[in-house]
Amino acid sequence: MQIFWLKRNLRLQDSEPFFESMRAFRKKGQVLPLYCHEPELIQQPDVSRQHQLFIQETLEELDRDFQSIGGKLLQVVGETVDVLDRIHRVQPLTKIWTHQETTQNSQFQRDKAVAAWCADHGVELLELAQNGIARGSQKPELFPPYFAGSVSFKLRDPIGTDLAERFAPLPFPSCDPKGIPKAAGTDKPLRQKGGRSQAIKNLNRFFTVPYLKQYPFQISSPNTAWQGCSRISTYLAYGIVSDREIFQAVDRVVTDAHSRMNADQFSKFQENARFYLDRLSWRRQYMQTFETRPELEFECMLAQFNGVREADYWEGRSLTHSLTPFLGQSEQHFIAWKQGLTGFPYVDAAMRFLNQTGWINMRLRATLVSFATMNLWIPTTKVAEYLATEFLDYEPGIHHVIHQIIAGTTEFNELMVYDPVKQGRDHDLDGHFIHKWVPELADVPGSELHDLSKTAFRLSKNAEILGYMPYPEAIVDHRTTAKKAKDRVSDLRRSDSDRHRAFVEKSSEHKQDFQQSLF
Ligand SMILES: Cc1cc2nc3c(=O)[nH]c(=O)nc-3n(C[C@H](O)[C@H](O)[C@H](O)COP(=O)(O)OP(=O)(O)OC[C@H]3O[C@@H](n4cnc5c(N)ncnc54)[C@H](O)[C@@H]3O)c2cc1C
Repeated sequence: MQIFWLKRNLRLQDSEPFFESMRAFRKKGQVLPLYCHEPELIQQPDVSRQHQLFIQETLEELDRDFQSIGGKLLQVVGETVDVLDRIHRVQPLTKIWTHQETTQNSQFQRDKAVAAWCADHGVELLELAQNGIARGSQKPELFPPYFAGSVSFKLRDPIGTDLAERFAPLPFPSCDPKGIPKAAGTDKPLRQKGGRSQAIKNLNRFFTVPYLKQYPFQISSPNTAWQGCSRISTYLAYGIVSDREIFQAVDRVVTDAHSRMNADQFSKFQENARFYLDRLSWRRQYMQTFETRPELEFECMLAQFNGVREADYWEGRSLTHSLTPFLGQSEQHFIAWKQGLTGFPYVDAAMRFLNQTGWINMRLRATLVSFATMNLWIPTTKVAEYLATEFLDYEPGIHHVIHQIIAGTTEFNELMVYDPVKQGRDHDLDGHFIHKWVPELADVPGSELHDLSKTAFRLSKNAEILGYMPYPEAIVDHRTTAKKAKDRVSDLRRSDSDRHRAFVEKSSEHKQDFQQSLF
């Protein structure tokens, strides 16, 4: 019997491992689609309840899709190697098909354990590439040929075909969903729902001439981004749609626009479509970086930054009070940031919005991270770990690399600090977003919302009735802290001091193990 192993590849459409397993059924046996709810992974600090529920919704729909073509999805609670062992004892396995994942260490260790189990038990394991990510000694293709190849690729969809004879019966019943251990955190009331049909709804909504045309002008403000962005990231992150499907959707819209527009209009439209594709190219680039440097989940790209923010954090040396440090001050700042109580209305509105929706637009993500890692000088990995649980679309490859770019700890970017007040003025001038998400300030006119002296200690009547406390004053001076952070980061970039050599040496053991096992 073969296994089609589902992880961050939760789809049947454009799934080579699925099609290849189906094709191989005469030689290798019938196919059992398998998803494991792994207690070890569910407990990881970057996994949250919203992720888990999103996955469960997706699996429910996927199981219905399997049933419509004659199969059934086996869902089991247990570590994957234990589950494979259990299945193998009932029905010997010949081959496991799945996709390669560029993912966090915990899942990578699981993949290593599965590979070792397969080697021990004489079971073939084939992990096929996805998202155009090159592994080991392979060279990644440049984006333009990768895009062109994806657009001309013939996508396959098994729905509507009777494949019953190729599917294996379940060796034992699927688990009761009530028995799945719960991840930490609570669900988010306004998050996207899981399932392929939801992804397709999003695709159909966004991939039209009017939306793609407006895209560059809608993405920066939270007032327009909710509708104006494609909102496809979560479905891509869990492999519910493939990147090829997105490329083909863009290509279809461009063809449609070509038939409707004059040359001048079309050339402008093409620029906007390219603007969108640039982002998908960054996605692939960041994931490729993470594929080759997975240690970025725990370490800075520039080694001299390792341990610096951490030491200051634990010793209470925030940038504001460096002369009179007190233990726990940075911790207090971190808590205020997480709760949306920093006294910076735009930052707090963003955090509260994120807390309810599991999504915010890119610029606001950058503003939140810049505020935490620069103004508050919180360790980058701490910030990234928290936001991983808040972002429904958590994609480790993108997430960890961008955090480091913003925190200034990488090799490849100019240093920039987002001014949290200016960002608010630029993208929420009349305060529509702030009024909605920071009810304490609902009475403050838009013209005063971006003046911190006018927002401190305010409490609208409504918010008072609802039990809110007066809005806090700013927890740091954003200009002073930004300047200090910039100086600090610039100095560190120039230095290669001995101070952190011990830290680097210590962590290199883990890093070597990680890299050797990758290639
Ligand atoms: C600090 C920080 C953390 C982030 N963490 C994640 C994450 O965990 N998962 C994630 O998918 N994206 C992440 N992003 C990138 C980006 O913010 C989201 O992809 C985007 O907001 C998702 O919404 P959308 O699908 O509507 O994007 P759209 O604006 O419609 O863009 C289309 C697609 O392009 C890709 N994309 C867009 N912007 C970027 C970018 N800057 N870098 C790489 N790819 C991009 C995504 O796949 C996205 O779905 C992060 C950005 C920042 C600044």
